Amino acid sequence: ALLRHNRDVLRLSELNLKYVEHDKKIDGIVKRALEDGLLDVYYQPIFSPSDGKFTSCEALVRLKDPKLGFISPAVFMPVAERNGSVLEIDRYVLENVCEMISSTGITDYGIEYVEVNLSIVDCIQTNLAENILGTLKKYNVDSKHINLEITETWEKDITDVMDMNLGKLLKAGITFSMDDFGTGYSNLSRMALLPLKLFKLDKSIVQSALDSETSYMVMLNMIKIIKSLGKEIVAEGVETAEQAKQIIRLGCDHVQGFFYARPMPRESFIQFIKEHNS
Ligand code: C2E
Ligand code: CA
Ligand code: CA
Ligand code: CA
Repeated sequence: ALLRHNRDVLRLSELNLKYVEHDKKIDGIVKRALEDGLLDVYYQPIFSPSDGKFTSCEALVRLKDPKLGFISPAVFMPVAERNGSVLEIDRYVLENVCEMISSTGITDYGIEYVEVNLSIVDCIQTNLAENILGTLKKYNVDSKHINLEITETWEKDITDVMDMNLGKLLKAGITFSMDDFGTGYSNLSRMALLPLKLFKLDKSIVQSALDSETSYMVMLNMIKIIKSLGKEIVAEGVETAEQAKQIIRLGCDHVQGFFYARPMPRESFIQFIKEHNS
Protein backbone atom coordinates (compact mmCIF):
# COMPACT_ATOMS: atom_id res chain seq x y z
CA ALA A 1 0.00 0.00 0.00
CA LEU A 2 2.84 2.32 0.89
CA LEU A 3 4.48 1.55 -2.44
CA ARG A 4 1.34 2.36 -4.29
CA HIS A 5 0.96 5.54 -2.31
CA ASN A 6 4.50 6.55 -3.20
CA ARG A 7 3.86 5.77 -6.83
CA ASP A 8 0.74 7.93 -6.80
CA VAL A 9 2.59 10.79 -5.16
CA LEU A 10 5.33 10.51 -7.75
CA ARG A 11 2.83 10.49 -10.59
CA LEU A 12 1.09 13.51 -9.11
CA SER A 13 4.31 15.48 -8.82
CA GLU A 14 5.18 14.56 -12.40
CA LEU A 15 1.79 15.83 -13.47
CA ASN A 16 2.35 18.97 -11.46
CA LEU A 17 5.69 19.49 -13.12
CA LYS A 18 4.18 19.08 -16.56
CA TYR A 19 1.54 21.57 -15.57
CA VAL A 20 4.14 24.06 -14.38
CA GLU A 21 6.23 23.55 -17.51
CA HIS A 22 3.19 24.02 -19.71
CA ASP A 23 2.30 27.20 -17.85
CA LYS A 24 5.86 28.48 -18.16
CA LYS A 25 5.97 27.81 -21.88
CA ILE A 26 2.62 29.46 -22.57
CA ASP A 27 3.55 32.28 -20.20
CA GLY A 28 6.64 33.00 -22.32
CA ILE A 29 4.61 32.91 -25.53
CA VAL A 30 2.01 35.33 -24.15
CA LYS A 31 4.58 37.78 -22.80
CA ARG A 32 6.45 37.78 -26.10
CA ALA A 33 3.22 38.23 -28.01
CA LEU A 34 2.45 41.31 -25.91
CA GLU A 35 5.95 42.72 -26.40
CA ASP A 36 6.13 42.02 -30.12
CA GLY A 37 2.55 43.02 -30.91
CA LEU A 38 1.48 39.55 -32.02
CA LEU A 39 -2.04 39.81 -30.69
CA ASP A 40 -4.98 40.55 -32.92
CA VAL A 41 -8.73 40.89 -32.43
CA TYR A 42 -11.23 38.95 -34.51
CA TYR A 43 -14.91 39.80 -34.74
CA GLN A 44 -17.78 37.32 -34.93
CA PRO A 45 -21.07 38.71 -36.28
CA ILE A 46 -24.20 37.88 -34.25
CA PHE A 47 -27.53 37.57 -36.07
CA SER A 48 -30.86 38.86 -34.78
CA PRO A 49 -33.75 37.00 -36.45
CA SER A 50 -36.41 39.60 -35.65
CA ASP A 51 -34.37 42.33 -37.34
CA GLY A 52 -33.25 40.01 -40.11
CA LYS A 53 -29.71 41.29 -39.79
CA PHE A 54 -26.53 41.23 -37.73
CA THR A 55 -26.99 43.66 -34.84
CA SER A 56 -23.96 42.85 -32.71
CA CYS A 57 -20.67 40.98 -32.66
CA GLU A 58 -18.19 39.49 -30.21
CA ALA A 59 -14.56 40.59 -30.03
CA LEU A 60 -12.23 37.58 -29.63
CA VAL A 61 -8.49 37.80 -29.06
CA ARG A 62 -6.11 35.93 -31.37
CA LEU A 63 -2.45 35.07 -30.81
CA LYS A 64 -0.27 34.03 -33.71
CA ASP A 65 3.09 32.72 -32.61
CA PRO A 66 5.76 33.01 -35.33
CA LYS A 67 6.77 29.36 -34.83
CA LEU A 68 3.65 27.65 -33.54
CA GLY A 69 0.99 29.52 -35.51
CA PHE A 70 -2.41 30.33 -33.97
CA ILE A 71 -2.78 29.37 -30.33
CA SER A 72 -6.34 29.13 -29.00
CA PRO A 73 -7.40 31.59 -26.29
CA ALA A 74 -8.91 28.57 -24.58
CA VAL A 75 -5.27 27.48 -24.06
CA PHE A 76 -3.52 30.76 -23.27
CA MET A 77 -6.22 32.79 -21.49
CA PRO A 78 -6.29 30.51 -18.41
CA VAL A 79 -2.50 30.95 -18.12
CA ALA A 80 -2.83 34.70 -18.70
CA GLU A 81 -5.38 34.79 -15.88
CA ARG A 82 -2.94 33.08 -13.52
CA ASN A 83 0.07 35.26 -14.37
CA GLY A 84 -1.82 38.55 -14.66
CA SER A 85 -1.21 39.14 -18.39
CA VAL A 86 -4.97 38.99 -18.86
CA LEU A 87 -5.19 42.62 -17.73
CA GLU A 88 -2.92 43.79 -20.52
CA ILE A 89 -4.62 41.51 -23.06
CA ASP A 90 -8.10 42.74 -22.24
CA ARG A 91 -6.97 46.36 -22.29
CA TYR A 92 -5.50 45.73 -25.71
CA VAL A 93 -8.76 44.14 -26.93
CA LEU A 94 -10.93 47.01 -25.68
CA GLU A 95 -8.57 49.52 -27.24
CA ASN A 96 -8.78 47.65 -30.56
CA VAL A 97 -12.59 47.54 -30.32
CA CYS A 98 -12.94 51.26 -29.60
CA GLU A 99 -10.50 52.16 -32.33
CA MET A 100 -12.42 49.90 -34.73
CA ILE A 101 -15.78 51.47 -33.85
CA SER A 102 -14.52 55.03 -34.22
CA SER A 103 -12.51 54.50 -37.41
CA THR A 104 -14.98 52.33 -39.37
CA GLY A 105 -18.34 53.77 -38.38
CA ILE A 106 -19.63 50.20 -38.10
CA THR A 107 -22.51 51.30 -35.85
CA ASP A 108 -23.97 53.10 -38.89
CA TYR A 109 -24.27 49.69 -40.54
CA GLY A 110 -26.55 48.13 -37.93
CA ILE A 111 -24.03 46.90 -35.36
CA GLU A 112 -25.55 48.26 -32.17
CA TYR A 113 -22.87 47.08 -29.78
CA VAL A 114 -19.69 45.01 -29.56
CA GLU A 115 -19.46 42.30 -26.91
CA VAL A 116 -16.14 42.31 -25.06
CA ASN A 117 -15.04 39.54 -22.68
CA LEU A 118 -14.00 40.41 -19.15
CA SER A 119 -12.09 38.05 -16.91
CA ILE A 120 -12.80 37.76 -13.21
CA VAL A 121 -9.26 39.09 -12.74
CA ASP A 122 -10.25 42.32 -14.53
CA CYS A 123 -13.29 42.73 -12.33
CA ILE A 124 -11.37 42.82 -9.06
CA GLN A 125 -9.12 45.72 -10.17
CA THR A 126 -10.01 48.91 -8.35
CA ASN A 127 -9.32 51.01 -11.47
CA LEU A 128 -11.26 48.83 -13.95
CA ALA A 129 -14.16 51.24 -14.49
CA GLU A 130 -11.87 54.28 -14.87
CA ASN A 131 -9.67 52.42 -17.37
CA ILE A 132 -12.60 51.28 -19.48
CA LEU A 133 -14.33 54.66 -19.47
CA GLY A 134 -10.99 56.34 -20.22
CA THR A 135 -10.52 54.18 -23.31
CA LEU A 136 -14.04 54.92 -24.54
CA LYS A 137 -13.39 58.61 -24.10
CA LYS A 138 -10.04 58.43 -25.87
CA TYR A 139 -11.78 57.12 -29.01
CA ASN A 140 -14.97 59.08 -28.50
CA VAL A 141 -17.06 55.89 -28.39
CA ASP A 142 -20.57 56.05 -26.94
CA SER A 143 -20.93 53.64 -24.00
CA LYS A 144 -24.09 52.15 -25.55
CA HIS A 145 -21.88 50.52 -28.18
CA ILE A 146 -20.02 48.40 -25.61
CA ASN A 147 -21.41 45.31 -23.88
CA LEU A 148 -19.22 43.53 -21.36
CA GLU A 149 -19.41 39.75 -20.95
CA ILE A 150 -18.90 38.26 -17.53
CA THR A 151 -19.22 34.63 -16.46
CA GLU A 152 -21.12 32.77 -13.80
CA THR A 153 -18.08 32.64 -11.51
CA TRP A 154 -18.61 36.35 -11.21
CA GLU A 155 -21.96 35.99 -9.53
CA LYS A 156 -20.59 33.45 -7.03
CA ASP A 157 -18.02 35.59 -5.31
CA ILE A 158 -19.08 39.14 -5.95
CA THR A 159 -16.90 41.48 -3.90
CA ASP A 160 -17.19 45.14 -2.99
CA VAL A 161 -14.69 46.07 -5.70
CA MET A 162 -16.66 44.22 -8.36
CA ASP A 163 -19.83 45.80 -7.08
CA MET A 164 -18.28 49.24 -7.33
CA ASN A 165 -16.95 48.60 -10.85
CA LEU A 166 -20.30 47.30 -11.99
CA GLY A 167 -22.08 50.31 -10.52
CA LYS A 168 -19.78 52.85 -12.18
CA LEU A 169 -19.94 51.16 -15.58
CA LEU A 170 -23.72 50.76 -15.49
CA LYS A 171 -24.12 54.38 -14.51
CA ALA A 172 -21.99 55.35 -17.50
CA GLY A 173 -24.39 53.43 -19.78
CA ILE A 174 -22.44 50.24 -20.42
CA THR A 175 -24.49 47.03 -20.53
CA PHE A 176 -23.52 43.53 -19.35
CA SER A 177 -24.05 39.93 -20.46
CA MET A 178 -23.84 36.67 -18.57
CA ASP A 179 -21.55 34.49 -20.69
CA ASP A 180 -21.54 30.67 -20.87
CA PHE A 181 -24.89 30.51 -19.10
CA GLY A 182 -25.81 27.00 -18.04
CA THR A 183 -22.30 25.69 -17.44
CA GLY A 184 -21.77 26.78 -13.84
CA TYR A 185 -23.66 26.30 -10.65
CA SER A 186 -25.29 29.65 -10.23
CA ASN A 187 -27.75 30.77 -7.72
CA LEU A 188 -30.44 31.72 -10.19
CA SER A 189 -32.35 33.96 -7.84
CA ARG A 190 -29.21 35.97 -7.09
CA MET A 191 -28.25 36.09 -10.75
CA ALA A 192 -31.74 37.33 -11.60
CA LEU A 193 -31.03 40.37 -9.45
CA LEU A 194 -27.90 41.33 -11.37
CA PRO A 195 -28.53 44.18 -13.81
CA LEU A 196 -27.80 42.17 -16.97
CA LYS A 197 -29.05 42.91 -20.46
CA LEU A 198 -28.27 39.54 -22.03
CA PHE A 199 -27.81 35.90 -21.20
CA LYS A 200 -25.57 33.90 -23.49
CA LEU A 201 -26.75 30.31 -23.58
CA ASP A 202 -23.64 28.14 -23.65
CA LYS A 203 -22.90 26.16 -26.78
CA SER A 204 -22.95 22.85 -24.91
CA ILE A 205 -26.64 23.43 -24.13
CA VAL A 206 -27.47 24.59 -27.66
CA GLN A 207 -25.63 21.75 -29.34
CA SER A 208 -27.02 18.93 -27.22
CA ALA A 209 -30.63 20.10 -27.54
CA LEU A 210 -31.17 18.06 -30.70
CA ASP A 211 -29.69 14.92 -29.10
CA SER A 212 -32.40 13.98 -26.65
CA GLU A 213 -35.80 14.97 -25.35
CA THR A 214 -34.24 15.66 -21.93
CA SER A 215 -31.57 18.04 -23.28
CA TYR A 216 -34.23 19.76 -25.32
CA MET A 217 -36.40 20.26 -22.23
CA VAL A 218 -33.42 21.67 -20.31
CA MET A 219 -32.79 24.26 -23.01
CA LEU A 220 -36.46 25.07 -23.42
CA ASN A 221 -36.85 25.79 -19.73
CA MET A 222 -33.66 27.84 -19.50
CA ILE A 223 -34.99 30.01 -22.31
CA LYS A 224 -38.33 30.33 -20.50
CA ILE A 225 -36.65 31.44 -17.29
CA ILE A 226 -34.46 34.04 -19.01
CA LYS A 227 -37.44 35.40 -20.94
CA SER A 228 -39.59 35.58 -17.84
CA LEU A 229 -36.89 37.74 -16.24
CA GLY A 230 -37.26 40.13 -19.15
CA LYS A 231 -33.72 39.53 -20.45
CA GLU A 232 -32.55 38.97 -24.00
CA ILE A 233 -30.96 35.66 -25.01
CA VAL A 234 -28.03 34.90 -27.28
CA ALA A 235 -27.64 31.28 -28.38
CA GLU A 236 -23.96 30.40 -28.79
CA GLY A 237 -22.41 27.73 -30.98
CA VAL A 238 -25.13 27.47 -33.61
CA GLU A 239 -23.46 25.34 -36.28
CA THR A 240 -26.26 23.85 -38.37
CA ALA A 241 -29.44 25.01 -40.10
CA GLU A 242 -31.40 22.63 -37.90
CA GLN A 243 -30.02 24.14 -34.69
CA ALA A 244 -30.71 27.64 -36.02
CA LYS A 245 -34.30 26.73 -36.88
CA GLN A 246 -34.95 25.16 -33.48
CA ILE A 247 -33.40 27.93 -31.43
CA ILE A 248 -35.16 30.70 -33.36
CA ARG A 249 -38.51 28.92 -33.02
CA LEU A 250 -37.97 28.87 -29.25
CA GLY A 251 -37.61 32.63 -29.27
CA CYS A 252 -33.89 33.33 -28.88
CA ASP A 253 -33.27 36.99 -29.67
CA HIS A 254 -29.78 36.59 -31.08
CA VAL A 255 -27.85 33.71 -32.61
CA GLN A 256 -24.09 33.29 -32.81
CA GLY A 257 -22.19 30.47 -34.45
CA PHE A 258 -20.31 29.07 -37.40
CA PHE A 259 -23.62 28.56 -39.23
CA TYR A 260 -23.90 32.35 -39.56
CA ALA A 261 -20.31 33.50 -39.50
CA ARG A 262 -16.92 32.63 -38.04
CA PRO A 263 -14.82 35.06 -36.05
CA MET A 264 -12.88 37.03 -38.67
CA PRO A 265 -10.23 39.75 -38.99
CA ARG A 266 -11.46 43.33 -38.80
CA GLU A 267 -11.36 44.03 -42.54
CA SER A 268 -13.36 40.91 -43.44
CA PHE A 269 -15.83 41.69 -40.67
CA ILE A 270 -16.50 45.22 -41.92
CA GLN A 271 -16.97 43.90 -45.44
CA PHE A 272 -19.23 41.10 -44.21
CA ILE A 273 -21.50 43.51 -42.32
CA LYS A 274 -21.70 45.99 -45.18
CA GLU A 275 -22.67 43.16 -47.53
CA HIS A 276 -25.21 41.43 -45.28
CA ASN A 277 -26.84 44.34 -43.51
CA SER A 278 -27.84 46.46 -46.46
P1 C2E B 1 -16.34 32.48 -25.23
O1 C2E B 1 -16.36 33.81 -24.57
O2 C2E B 1 -17.43 31.55 -24.89
O3 C2E B 1 -16.29 32.77 -26.80
C1 C2E B 1 -16.99 32.04 -27.78
C2 C2E B 1 -16.10 30.97 -28.36
O4 C2E B 1 -16.89 30.11 -29.19
C3 C2E B 1 -15.02 31.54 -29.28
O5 C2E B 1 -13.87 30.71 -29.12
C4 C2E B 1 -15.63 31.35 -30.67
O6 C2E B 1 -14.67 31.29 -31.70
C5 C2E B 1 -16.32 30.02 -30.48
N1 C2E B 1 -17.42 29.79 -31.40
C6 C2E B 1 -18.21 30.68 -32.04
N2 C2E B 1 -19.14 30.07 -32.78
C7 C2E B 1 -18.94 28.73 -32.63
C8 C2E B 1 -19.59 27.56 -33.17
O7 C2E B 1 -20.55 27.61 -33.92
N3 C2E B 1 -19.10 26.36 -32.76
C9 C2E B 1 -18.03 26.25 -31.90
N4 C2E B 1 -17.62 25.04 -31.59
N5 C2E B 1 -17.40 27.34 -31.38
C10 C2E B 1 -17.86 28.56 -31.74
P2 C2E B 1 -12.41 31.32 -28.98
O8 C2E B 1 -12.28 32.56 -29.81
O9 C2E B 1 -11.44 30.21 -29.21
O10 C2E B 1 -12.33 31.78 -27.47
C11 C2E B 1 -12.35 30.83 -26.43
C12 C2E B 1 -12.56 31.50 -25.09
O11 C2E B 1 -11.43 32.30 -24.75
C13 C2E B 1 -13.74 32.46 -25.06
O12 C2E B 1 -14.94 31.74 -24.91
C14 C2E B 1 -13.38 33.32 -23.87
O13 C2E B 1 -13.71 32.66 -22.66
C15 C2E B 1 -11.88 33.41 -24.00
N6 C2E B 1 -11.56 34.68 -24.72
C16 C2E B 1 -11.46 34.91 -26.04
N7 C2E B 1 -11.14 36.22 -26.28
C17 C2E B 1 -11.04 36.80 -25.06
C18 C2E B 1 -10.72 38.14 -24.63
O14 C2E B 1 -10.48 39.09 -25.42
N8 C2E B 1 -10.71 38.36 -23.28
C19 C2E B 1 -10.97 37.37 -22.38
N9 C2E B 1 -10.92 37.67 -21.06
N10 C2E B 1 -11.29 36.11 -22.75
C20 C2E B 1 -11.31 35.83 -24.07
CA1 CA C 1 -17.76 35.45 -24.55
CA1 CA D 1 -19.46 31.96 -24.25
CA1 CA E 1 -16.19 32.60 -21.74
